[in-house]
Amino acid sequence: MLFHRVGVDTVGELLSYYPRTYDVYQEPVTFANLETEQVQAVTGFVRKVPAVNKTGRYAVTTVVLEEFGAFLHLTWFNMPYLKNSLSPGSTYIFRGRVQKKKGRLVMEQPEFFTPEAYQEKLNTMQPIYGLTAGLSNKTISKAVKQILDGRDLNPEYLPEAIRRDQELAESNFALQTIHFPVKWEDLILARKRLVFDEFFLFILSLRQMKEAAKTKKNECSMKPAKETQRLLRALPYELTGAQKRVWSEIKRDLNGARVMSRLIQGDVGSGKTVVALMALLCAVGNGYQGALMAPTEVLARQHFQSIQEMLAAAEISAKVAVLTGSLTAREKREVYEAVENGQTDIVVGTHALIQEQVRFCRLGLVVTDEQHRFGVRQRETLAGKGSSPHVLVMSATPIPRTLAVILYGDLDISVLDELPANRLPIKNCVVNESYRASAYRFMEKETAAGRQVYVICAMVEENPELELENVVDYTKKLKEALNASIRVEYLHGKMKPAQKNEIMERFAAGEIQVLVSTTVIEVGVNVPNATVMMVENAERFGLAQLHQLRGRVGRGTYQSYCIFVSGNDNPDTRKRLEILSRSNDGFYIASEDLKLRGPGDFFGIRQSGLLEFKIGDVFTDAGLLKAASEEAEKLLGQDPDLSLEAHRALKKRLEAYQKAGTGGVSL
Ligand code: ADP
Ligand code: MG
Repeated sequence: MLFHRVGVDTVGELLSYYPRTYDVYQEPVTFANLETEQVQAVTGFVRKVPAVNKTGRYAVTTVVLEEFGAFLHLTWFNMPYLKNSLSPGSTYIFRGRVQKKKGRLVMEQPEFFTPEAYQEKLNTMQPIYGLTAGLSNKTISKAVKQILDGRDLNPEYLPEAIRRDQELAESNFALQTIHFPVKWEDLILARKRLVFDEFFLFILSLRQMKEAAKTKKNECSMKPAKETQRLLRALPYELTGAQKRVWSEIKRDLNGARVMSRLIQGDVGSGKTVVALMALLCAVGNGYQGALMAPTEVLARQHFQSIQEMLAAAEISAKVAVLTGSLTAREKREVYEAVENGQTDIVVGTHALIQEQVRFCRLGLVVTDEQHRFGVRQRETLAGKGSSPHVLVMSATPIPRTLAVILYGDLDISVLDELPANRLPIKNCVVNESYRASAYRFMEKETAAGRQVYVICAMVEENPELELENVVDYTKKLKEALNASIRVEYLHGKMKPAQKNEIMERFAAGEIQVLVSTTVIEVGVNVPNATVMMVENAERFGLAQLHQLRGRVGRGTYQSYCIFVSGNDNPDTRKRLEILSRSNDGFYIASEDLKLRGPGDFFGIRQSGLLEFKIGDVFTDAGLLKAASEEAEKLLGQDPDLSLEAHRALKKRLEAYQKAGTGGVSL
């Protein structure tokens, strides 16, 4: 059940639930060598029974260590029983992230060991998995170990020549090593192999899909429709040249000989939604139904509302419905019925759209928004609900064309390379915490002028409990710091979908002026009246992610501002963040980030978890992606259906991948 929450339902999925990073247990340091933001170990003498205090909803256990007049404060949340495990008069090794709070050096939630136990851990690499509340790192690593120990080794399935030419490690070794590495060099090799496999299988499947699509006739031929024209006439703006060009490509496909499979690639704010709506209306005008799938409930709701508004303004009578997880069973049933009997023309929704119960009566077009958040398989499942409907996918992934051609190998690509003309470039600044007060004054000024503000707090991955605390606490403090008449609310991942929707709707309606949020608003959210994006602890985010966040402002005619607040004064952090001020080009940003961090830093912040890759990163591993693509090309050139004896194991592996999608792992 808990494993399910992190997307692990089968043994194969567990094995490909790769560690997020690794922890190396290093020698304890002296207090004089403590460095903030570093995970370090210290040797500490516990003088007395730890104190437990109630603050707010948490019981906080505190120990203060002293060494030659320097102090280190250790705190644990909601672990009052610790007081009995740390005995006065004993020495322990404490290990955790060093932080500076109110002028004091602190470690929150440090691990602790007896000196003997620590000696055993010293210099070993421990896997760190992505966690969810209630599922501990120990539980995951134990489960993985059990499976790995008890499993029969799989035969190698990559052709010998590929392994040799690409210098790839053996597959069983790679799997064992990625979870339990013994040394760094092995880990690099293991990762390389798994990344290669992931890309390779992905590309092989795409190629097969492309071959299959080539022969698919257009069974839902669509002529230009008056609904689309009407929408255009009613829009308060004129389409950009790029939007017009892309639309003409889509129009040609819809009416062409083969079924459409097209990607619209366009940076944040380039106006993809309206193009999708034009296509959906063309379907409706031709008597077909259309579906639009978005990766989050917030985004689906937003699309639903803005589509309804646009249709009302243009006096188009198409019936639109929304289908998301948070509808009641009864509401869902009503939508299923209306979609099945054809009353609904356009249905907008989340993954809920690909549930079994959803049946269409004459589905002619499916659109997926922010495709990089979905798997190819989900896109296919939705398309499978009609008899070969047209497929349009949209993505803001800032990747150069050469990579897009590989990653979206089964699609034709249209590029929206022009922002609407009314946009002013966003003004950026990178500041430290001392600037916060001025930033607040600035927010007051913008809200007084009628604008709106986002403030983003970092997720607290080590302790999901604290994420909520972070946002709620911050909001409280912010309310005190701002003019009392300003309406501030918060949003975080743990809220019920219905609550999230309500907050988002109130923000979109301008009722909420300042929205404090985690990155749940990262994708697609469109509130053109918002002009300030302030990101706290910006150093904890990947630059590509910060670029996405920045894309939430500058979506209207007003001058917009991004304030990246860095939680430390480290010059490297600053240098990294300043890349953002220099450029608005998502790919440039991602590649500069990579250069600064260096290739050794494979396991740092993942750029953005693009597509469904579990270990590969299209930015960091662009070289391997190209290599995998070339090898796939070569292989299919020799043996298009992988029918040679030498490719039998690979074929089997590919089938398993397509069926289960377990990354590079088979059982
Ligand atoms: P994205 O490509 O990031 O999905 P959206 O489709 O959400 O962008 O569009 C962003 C904003 O730009 C919306 O408020 C939309 O109404 C507006 N917009 C779209 N096209 C144009 C245009 N040609 N001129 C002016 N504004 C536009
Ligand atoms: Mg969008």
